[in-house]
Amino acid sequence: MADDRERIPNDLRNLRACLVCSLIKSAGMFEEDGCDNCEEFLPMKGNSELVYECTSSNFEGMIALMHPEESWVAKWQRIAHHVKGMYAISVTGTLPRRIQRELAQNGRPIRSRDVSLKT
Ligand SMILES: [Zn+2]
Repeated sequence: MADDRERIPNDLRNLRACLVCSLIKSAGMFEEDGCDNCEEFLPMKGNSELVYECTSSNFEGMIALMHPEESWVAKWQRIAHHVKGMYAISVTGTLPRRIQRELAQNGRPIRSRDVSLKT
């Protein structure tokens, strides 16, 4: 388990946001550690192909989530149960169909993180 400081991107180039939970890390960090929230059902660790499928470089806004339990932002973004770190407000992109299907079968239907889709 990485400590909180290691989870904050130290390289601001090549940042990507997870399409499932909107956690922001560099592509390299996703490849190395997977997504801290989603690794359990979306094993991106060591799988660069899956990292590129399940994360997006097209996101807007950043929230530093430091006290997930207390943060109103976290409640609003429905990320209160997620690890501390940087989160995108909106992530553009969709998970590949087969991955959506797999997650749904595992009882994890995906809520789009792309708020621009809502009216
Ligand atoms: Zn994630």
